[in-house]
Amino acid sequence: MRERFSRFMQGRHGADQLSNFLVIAALVLVVLEIFIPIPRVRHAMNSLGVGFILFSYFRMFSRNHARRYEENEWFLKYYNRVRFWWNGKKARSAQRKTHRIFKCPSCRQSIRVPKGKGKIAITCPKCRKEFIKRT
Ligand SMILES: [Zn+2]
Repeated sequence: MRERFSRFMQGRHGADQLSNFLVIAALVLVVLEIFIPIPRVRHAMNSLGVGFILFSYFRMFSRNHARRYEENEWFLKYYNRVRFWWNGKKARSAQRKTHRIFKCPSCRQSIRVPKGKGKIAITCPKCRKEFIKRT
């Protein structure tokens, strides 16, 4: 059975990041759908979820590698952009407990200073402008 499956999958594209994402997105849609009280919206989410699953299966069994590779690259471009943005946001919110970010009043440079030091004079590392802030 296992052998037959691997023979069946030979030359086919198989799973990639886009397929995995489609399956997870479909699951999220199906779970979220439970909480939506509007039948038309529920129906649309359901159809979209089924569409995602069908598309991911189609891609896994596809023999057109070039086209599937292109789709995956296209997906990764946007996915990495979102991930980059999200990681930056996470890092900033982790720093918020220990640091404060100020903008230099003259050159708009972001300056990170430790929290809880009271009123301090901050010197901009870029333009050397000094300003007073409460940390
Ligand atoms: Zn400055």
